[in-house]
Amino acid sequence: MAKPAIFSIDDDPSVLSAVERDLRAHYGQEYRIIPINSGRAALDYLKKMKQRNETVALFLVDQRMPEMNGVEFLEQAIQAYPQAKRVLLTAYADTAAAIASINEVGLDYYLMKPWHPPEERLYPILDELIEDWKMHVRLPYEGIRIAGTLWSLPSHEVKDFLTRHQIPYQWLDIEKDTNARQLVEDINLGITKLPVVFFPDGDVLVQPNLTELAEKVGLQTRAEKPFYDIVVVGSGPAGLAAAVYAGSEGYKCVVIEKAAPGGQAGSSPRIENYLGFPSGISGDDLTRRAVSQAKRFGVEILSAQEAVKVCVKDKYRTIQLADGTEISCHVVLVATGASFHILRMPGGDKLTGAGIYYGAAYTEAMYYKDKHVFVVGGANSAAQGALYLSRFASKVTVLIRGPQPTASKYLVDALEENEKVELLLNTDLVELKGGNTLEQIVVKNSVTNELQTLDAAALFVFVGVRPQSQLVADLVQRNEKGYIYTGADLMVDNKPPQGWTLNRPPFLFETSVPGIFAAGDVCYGTNHRVASAAGAGTIAFAMMKEYLKAL
Ligand SMILES: Cc1cc2nc3c(=O)[nH]c(=O)nc-3n(C[C@H](O)[C@H](O)[C@H](O)COP(=O)(O)OP(=O)(O)OC[C@H]3O[C@@H](n4cnc5c(N)ncnc54)[C@H](O)[C@@H]3O)c2cc1C
Repeated sequence: MAKPAIFSIDDDPSVLSAVERDLRAHYGQEYRIIPINSGRAALDYLKKMKQRNETVALFLVDQRMPEMNGVEFLEQAIQAYPQAKRVLLTAYADTAAAIASINEVGLDYYLMKPWHPPEERLYPILDELIEDWKMHVRLPYEGIRIAGTLWSLPSHEVKDFLTRHQIPYQWLDIEKDTNARQLVEDINLGITKLPVVFFPDGDVLVQPNLTELAEKVGLQTRAEKPFYDIVVVGSGPAGLAAAVYAGSEGYKCVVIEKAAPGGQAGSSPRIENYLGFPSGISGDDLTRRAVSQAKRFGVEILSAQEAVKVCVKDKYRTIQLADGTEISCHVVLVATGASFHILRMPGGDKLTGAGIYYGAAYTEAMYYKDKHVFVVGGANSAAQGALYLSRFASKVTVLIRGPQPTASKYLVDALEENEKVELLLNTDLVELKGGNTLEQIVVKNSVTNELQTLDAAALFVFVGVRPQSQLVADLVQRNEKGYIYTGADLMVDNKPPQGWTLNRPPFLFETSVPGIFAAGDVCYGTNHRVASAAGAGTIAFAMMKEYLKAL
């Protein structure tokens, strides 16, 4: 973090350099001394400092300057730095202006020129002011800052991406924080493009795409090698388990992840039924451990890179990425899991990310403190989401289509015991209403057909899980919902699938194309559990090893 600044502002070059010399001699160790010859230039400089989140301890300003006098400068400067101490440098004739400004700009002191000797007439006064500043200043946050609004989808995506990568940041809501709004307006010439991301090194990204953001925060986004033994697409439990085994056995392996590692499991506030963690483990903790384990074994993990298509070229398999590049390998594991389906109803598209979030309770919960929020879904993920949200919200209403929640008993018990949680059974969501952000939802009781309109600050959706298998849509056999068939599920009347070229049947977790495997929630027959996905990834690796041996 840069040292706090002391500004000296004077249009007379000889006075400016004399003040600078005296300030540097006494304060140069602990403070940056910034000499500037006009108020206007100093205000421009302050804007840049604000973007870098740097602090100002004191302004020492000449009152008599041509285009903007000292008081006029202070009036504007203290908007950005209200805690900085303010001292005017005056001639005898300016005394009246200085006294008037004690009230106008909360002037702390006015110094008469000349101020020599500084040991008597300058340092004692400034020392006292700076001591007082040190006692009361709230030093700024030193990390990444994201300025945006709760109704901007890209703001949500950036926050979610950093949260999922466990990269700390400070959220600045420009609707509540006028300084943050000013910062955004200075960069953007308006607030049309959100969010604006400020980095401690002074760099600023405006509405960045995830790859740009990943590169800026030092994540790997490009493969290092031209060719791999194994490419894993997706870094949920299935992909990471396969990668850990592949790396540990010395295979060249890269994992491609379109968002952040961990998959659905990474968004779980607490996984309580995974073997070996009697008091549960959060999804991000499990992910952090798995990612470090895979990297320790030399696996590369690419973030913010979407695989759009898998192709077969003779013995080789190629994965096309959304940025137009390709990665080649001997064998591919599709571990792309599943995601929640976007609500298809009035208001659904418009309000996504603006009060409607898909499985993102972890990222957004704290912004809905003391608000009434809703959860859609009755299974484990919805129950976990509701319990997590209840730590922040004043009330959490869970909309469940059926007559009972379908979550595991320990979760249903926890929901029923939680005073902040209300379960609305036999309830269908029919409409979402709002302007910039969600305001109301319309629900229908499927037994009585009664419609109700309810005020809602946010809605967290945990229904309609769909496999993410589009990248192999034209290549491998899938069912009508998109789940990929593998192994024995491909055999019909003991015969391998059409087009199968080998004289052995498909291995466990091998798809209808040799050398392309699939594991976890993207597969037909999944039971949507972390342990099943991790187990499937592990077995899939063993089968890929058999495939590689035979090449
Ligand atoms: C909120 C929540 C709580 C849960 N809690 C529990 C629990 O307590 N216990 C339990 O056993 N199970 C739980 N589950 C279910 C469990 O998390 C999943 O069954 C498991 O994560 C599936 O693992 P997977 O590796 O198959 O896929 P996923 O976890 O879905 O991971 C797939 C990954 O692939 C990436 N991807 C998709 N397409 C592409 C592409 N084209 N290019 C690159 N990357 C791509 C995705 O971004 C994702 O990171 C929970 C699920 C959710 C959503």
